Amino acid sequence: MESKNKKPKSHQKWSWIFLVGFMILSIVDFRFGILAIVCMGTPLYHALKGRGKIHCSHYCPRGSFLARFLSGISLNRNMPAWMKSKAAKNTLLGLMVAMFALSIAKSGGDFVKMGFAMFRFMAASTVLGILMGIIYRPRSWCQVCPMGYSTGIIKNYQDAKKGDLDEASDVRKSTVA
Ligand code: SF4
Repeated sequence: MESKNKKPKSHQKWSWIFLVGFMILSIVDFRFGILAIVCMGTPLYHALKGRGKIHCSHYCPRGSFLARFLSGISLNRNMPAWMKSKAAKNTLLGLMVAMFALSIAKSGGDFVKMGFAMFRFMAASTVLGILMGIIYRPRSWCQVCPMGYSTGIIKNYQDAKKGDLDEASDVRKSTVA
């Protein structure tokens, strides 16, 4: 019988193929840019299901791409502390959400324009991730990535909630005893 605690297999060695495929398809036809929803939605889906940052450690095509292709050319320097600060992460998250919402609103519901806006968003963040990966360590982008950061926020919230529930249950037990 299969163990319930069996750890899922990591696909980080090859999942970069999805990112490259997405880029090629979107360049050929901007409508494929809509698939970026899958890229943005999957980490949140896993986090909301209580799986924490499993997307980052096991599946993420972008994380896989950065590790696979930048390892040989990265300068492997440490990122400055301010770039990893909460303020910097919040600023980047806010900026990306605002830019994304604005470009989708500007597309006026046109499918091709929406696809292009999403592709442009993905391409810009990928280029930024590549530059950071060359200047600093290959997966430096992952330290500030809005999706990784958001899943971390969800996980912290879930952990805190679970902690509160455990505490309440302990108090109840000690009151009953
Ligand atoms: S932090 Fe972002 S880019 Fe890095 S693995 Fe997670 S979702 Fe992917």
